[in-house]
Amino acid sequence: MAMQDSYNRTIDYLRISITDKCNLKCVYCKPKASLKHFSGSEVLTSEEIIRLVRIAHKYGVKKVRLTGGEPLMRKDVVQLISSIKRIGIPDLSLTTNGIMLADLAEDLKKAGLDRVNISLDSMNAERFKTITNGGDLDRVLKALDAAEKNGFSPVKINIVPIRGFNDDEIISFASLTLSKDYHIRFIEFMPVGCNEIWEKGKCISAAEVIERISTLGELTHLEFKGKGPSRNYQLKGARGIIGVISPITDHFCKFCNRLRLTADGKIRPCLFSNVEIDVRTPMKNGATDEEIDKLFCHAIEVKPERHLLDKDTNSSKFLQAMSKIGG
Ligand code: SAM
Repeated sequence: MAMQDSYNRTIDYLRISITDKCNLKCVYCKPKASLKHFSGSEVLTSEEIIRLVRIAHKYGVKKVRLTGGEPLMRKDVVQLISSIKRIGIPDLSLTTNGIMLADLAEDLKKAGLDRVNISLDSMNAERFKTITNGGDLDRVLKALDAAEKNGFSPVKINIVPIRGFNDDEIISFASLTLSKDYHIRFIEFMPVGCNEIWEKGKCISAAEVIERISTLGELTHLEFKGKGPSRNYQLKGARGIIGVISPITDHFCKFCNRLRLTADGKIRPCLFSNVEIDVRTPMKNGATDEEIDKLFCHAIEVKPERHLLDKDTNSSKFLQAMSKIGG
């Protein structure tokens, strides 16, 4: 049964943060003040996650993405993927920093994972280390190879270009699509949980990214397919695709088809609103499926028409870090 929200958008996509822990500390993702992690008992168990996916599937969810924190840090991630796939989710994907992916790629594929997005903000080993607070670029490069080898297609790379930080790599990232069939996706820097370093001037708009990349050669705007937030382009003769995601300068709320489930069991209808529907407490207290169904449908009903980030970037001031909500 497909569900529509109050603005006639079909909601068929659930992003699940399966842990708020991460093995990197990207400077733009986490606030400087040390974050307290959820305690083990606060995080949803795999049974609870599976139960919620089953309910979401009943109400028309066809696409599930596991994220975090770093989803591959969760010890039961392979079993979790296999159980979610068995529910009948046709499009099951994962967003990862890639640090542990080379070791797990084969098992994840066998378990039924369809696609991966790998976050990578610099191809320079020293800079990568600085951005991630100690991360090893080589492991991410190995992850890209492992993703290709194991048939996770298309491999998507997420980069957040930040002015004066890594924006001099926009062109080299885009050039990768000439030889590889990667989808390189440039995401506008958002003021989420990282207010110490966020400034409007540091956010590079999707329009500026495209303007810079067009110096590389003829760039074709590809027809908008599906419901994803990415507007896609291709360089002449390229194998891969370039995408821009513009939550700040050109919000895509009209097409938003998603709900988020936080690691501690709250359904969040919009990334940029603090409205959350707690499903963990009722599950712990023995709620029936009918009761959880109602909460799930309520989350769809209260999904806001749009966020107001382009009007008021302070509106995100009280948002938790992405690692808690699930980026
Ligand atoms: N650990 C995984 C990873 O690194 O991909 C998944 C979680 S991470 C929070 C998911 C995505 O959120 C990453 O691609 C990251 O670049 C993005 N992200 C985090 N903070 C952001 C911000 N302030 N603005 C834009 N994107 C952000």
